[in-house]
Amino acid sequence: MQADPAAQRRLLELVAIDTQVAQLTHRRNNLPENAELAELRARHTEASRALVAAETRLSDAQREVQRVESDLVPARQRLVRDQERADQGAVTDPRALRGLLEEIEHLGGRIATLEDQELDHLQEVEDATADRDHLAAARDLVTARAREVIAARDQQVAEIDGRLAVARDARASLVAGLPADLVGLYDRIGARLGGAGAAELRAKRCLGCLLEINAADLRRFAAAAPEEVIRCEECDRILVRTPESGLS
Ligand SMILES: [Zn+2]
Repeated sequence: MQADPAAQRRLLELVAIDTQVAQLTHRRNNLPENAELAELRARHTEASRALVAAETRLSDAQREVQRVESDLVPARQRLVRDQERADQGAVTDPRALRGLLEEIEHLGGRIATLEDQELDHLQEVEDATADRDHLAAARDLVTARAREVIAARDQQVAEIDGRLAVARDARASLVAGLPADLVGLYDRIGARLGGAGAAELRAKRCLGCLLEINAADLRRFAAAAPEEVIRCEECDRILVRTPESGLS
């Protein structure tokens, strides 16, 4: 292929732009904020799971308190009624009176047992409430941190996208001023190598693959007309000659 030497040299500007685009794209795809967000998301899921468990424990304990309370109310009412009947001397039959006193004693024991149970369940309510509050606060911290990280991430992405847009505009105007077949060759090589399709030949070295050009190729390159498009034998990139190429 033949191409104007000045156009060949401008390929180095294309290399610089494409290198910058590749670096910006790499940065955009590997933002540390995204790694932290993934970790925060996992922590949020775990915190939510623990929170649901604590809330379940709390509502179970509250239900137990209500259950014991609903047993206590009629037992206390009956005790009060029995006690009044006994105090008023309403029951005179000795057998009935003994039955009444036995019931009072039995009710007293049952009430004491239920009150013990109620205390245990109230303690459980207190513990589960503290757990739930602690876990909810911890989850809120994770949420707050995630909001900060998302804001920082979005700011980074916006900045990178702005620079990418500038670079793509610069590339478009540069390419518009270059021969289409030269840019086509550059793009095909770049697509195959996953990067720039040209490199500077500097001090007898290809700056694309960084390998030194062998003596035979150097002689061939030195003899080639400036319009001839030469390629690196190692990496296949278009080699751009400059006064620093080491060919003379
Ligand atoms: Zn090379």
